Amino acid sequence: MKKLLLFGAMFLFIGTTSFAQENYKTVNPKHEFNNNEFHDVRYYSEKELKFKKRPKNVILLIGDGMGVAQVFTGITANKGDLNLINMRSIGFSRTQSADDYVTDSAAGGTALSCGQKTYNGAIGVDVNKQPIQSILEIAEENEKATGLVSTSAITHATPAAFIAHQPKRSMYEEIAGDFMNTDIDVFIGGGRDFFEKRQDERNLLEELKTKGYQVFNSVDEASKVEEGKLAILTAKGHNPGYKDRGEMLPDATEKAIEILDGASKKGFFLMVEGSQIDWGGHQNNASFVGGEMLDFDQAIGKALEYAVNSRNTLVIVTADHETGGMAIEGGDMRKGYVKANFTTGHHSGLMVPVFAFGPGAEEFGGIYENTEIFNKIYKLYRFKKTK
Ligand code: MG
Ligand code: ZN
Repeated sequence: MKKLLLFGAMFLFIGTTSFAQENYKTVNPKHEFNNNEFHDVRYYSEKELKFKKRPKNVILLIGDGMGVAQVFTGITANKGDLNLINMRSIGFSRTQSADDYVTDSAAGGTALSCGQKTYNGAIGVDVNKQPIQSILEIAEENEKATGLVSTSAITHATPAAFIAHQPKRSMYEEIAGDFMNTDIDVFIGGGRDFFEKRQDERNLLEELKTKGYQVFNSVDEASKVEEGKLAILTAKGHNPGYKDRGEMLPDATEKAIEILDGASKKGFFLMVEGSQIDWGGHQNNASFVGGEMLDFDQAIGKALEYAVNSRNTLVIVTADHETGGMAIEGGDMRKGYVKANFTTGHHSGLMVPVFAFGPGAEEFGGIYENTEIFNKIYKLYRFKKTK
């Protein structure tokens, strides 16, 4: 009887955690908002931009669900200014997956991370469910330092696609397990429960410590850490939305760059995700989209600042797909007022913008498949090892 109860409780627990991973999709429409949290934007003059010929480091920032309307919501909400506006090489990425005109974040993430179109739900595997090497893993093989940052659980589809190989995106514990098969230098995001409250009773946080990682629960706690392997699990599941998260994303981006800078003579690869822009789209909530966009832009600001100083860092900002079929119907650039509308509570099939800055940025103009972003990064890094 005891055993039966325990089993029942476990079932309930597992059921609720996986549900909690997806409940951001409930529609909660809010079409108009007046922003009142403005941030300062740093614009760089041509004179300040002296880049080397080739990038040694790449920082790829993915705004999940970030189409042109989401970007312009951010521009309007911040009274016309975004750090993103510094990025003058611009192209468009076609996001269709192998099995659907409208991609999900797993197939979209895998296209960006591994350079192959796959089926919706696939994490770092091809259409035959066979693992494909990601740019992060290839960077590791080529002795670069690597990092991942996200505002969702770090096991969620977008970051997972860079480090894990699983047939289904909902296999969060297996995805957390895949982190142990790599030499990733720094990762910061939510999802602590998938590392320490597992069905298989492994405690991956303890395993990480054994592997030499410094493990923390917040970026603040890790303020004194300047080097060495670092894992920060900032929430049990997903992090809260922008209102309750503080500066987690820009701070985590800064911390990851600090750790990766100088971690390897060969340079680094870092992926940073503004995960919840997508959730604002699913909810048809323009102010959620706007708040997440402005938070993401502050992380972009950190990456651009490093790129200007280092001169050998390519920064790319793009999305996996658009969410909400969002349009902007009105606004006031002086007040930060936005009036938007949505055509769906799901993703749309629209192409999404690609912004680039730094050495190699000129490669990103045009309209191309999302898999080309992987190919361009691979080519610019001049990797010797073949994929
Ligand atoms: Mg995502
Ligand atoms: Zn989504």
